[in-house]
Amino acid sequence: MIALALLALAAQVHTDFEAGNLGGAEWVSKDHLRVAVAGESDQDRRNRQPSWFYFRLEDVAGRGLVIDITGLAGEYNYRRHDGSGMRNMKPVYSYDNRNWVHLDDAEWLAGESAIRLRLKPSRNTVWIARQPPYTNAHLERLLAEVRKSGFVREETIGKTPQGRPMRLLTVTNPAAAEAGKKVLWLMVRQHSWESGTSWVAEGLLRFLVSGDGAARRIRQAAVFKILPMCDPDGVARGGVRFNQWGYDLNRNWDAVDPERMPEIHAQREAILGWVDSGRRIDLFVTLHNTESADFIEGPLTAGGPAMKALGERFWKLLVDHTSFYSPAGARDGRASTTPGMKGRMSVNQGLFHDRKIPAFLMELMVDRNPKLGRCPTVADRLEFGAGLARAMAAAAGAE
Ligand SMILES: [Zn+2]
Repeated sequence: MIALALLALAAQVHTDFEAGNLGGAEWVSKDHLRVAVAGESDQDRRNRQPSWFYFRLEDVAGRGLVIDITGLAGEYNYRRHDGSGMRNMKPVYSYDNRNWVHLDDAEWLAGESAIRLRLKPSRNTVWIARQPPYTNAHLERLLAEVRKSGFVREETIGKTPQGRPMRLLTVTNPAAAEAGKKVLWLMVRQHSWESGTSWVAEGLLRFLVSGDGAARRIRQAAVFKILPMCDPDGVARGGVRFNQWGYDLNRNWDAVDPERMPEIHAQREAILGWVDSGRRIDLFVTLHNTESADFIEGPLTAGGPAMKALGERFWKLLVDHTSFYSPAGARDGRASTTPGMKGRMSVNQGLFHDRKIPAFLMELMVDRNPKLGRCPTVADRLEFGAGLARAMAAAAGAE
């Protein structure tokens, strides 16, 4: 309510649309706007993460705007930070809420935990966001298109605290027998601010149902199981990484509570149910965004030589054939993000712990990617999605 009251005072600043979110807005002069990132904390009011903002300005054509985005200090894995990990952030703007351009004039204000943007809009209406948004509405539009292919089967595996369906997609050529097919699981948007990963998933899905020869071979030889939107409530409200009750959806895999974290419960039941019914998982990948590094991380040592070889093969395929910028190689994961503390296992850590599933975390940077020479655009993410489908299939021996 406080946020709404502040916004009411700040005429011309709007967040009344899916994923729109700000903590407050104030014009300090006619063309100088200060907006605060809302940020969210966990069930114990710890680990405040301020990584999402998305708002619309009206009546701004021709004005030389200075926009300060404040409140970027926070806490990650119980360590406080001043937000300077976001110092190279280039937010995006759009005149139509569809086509996004990175704002190059972005300056880190050291000591203020804020970033200063300068923009002279050529139109009256401009949207500004941390990175190109991808909402539940985007996913619904995509599913309406790809389900026509006949290669996508949809299931609802559970409901969120706010009653939204948790979806599971199966993508394969149903005319080819399941026996012998490699099985590849992909998980997307455990963390709602990480919209870049949804554009990757869209690219992957569009590729998999396409007429491309490699896609046809992959549909023949593999089954993709995709959890395309793991925190639909968070995405709807413009959240960061916690569900309605404050639970981080990529922690707590060792402390699953069906009431407080029905998302994790539904996802975990679907994955373990698959394995426990005697079916295989050749590779499991959960997609995430981070500020400044691309990497994969999995149980290279704990999983033994075959796991290490799988991780290294997957990493090399990505590095050789996509924009994945990861010079240091595949990372060896730990058993928990906070050893000795319950509720701190991520999905990949939990699945390896529970069933020795070859589960990997993939982080994709939002800042400038040296291989691309720019911050990844929507087109870059879509293209990476096709490359990811091929790399996953090839790593598992299905292409
Ligand atoms: Zn994440």
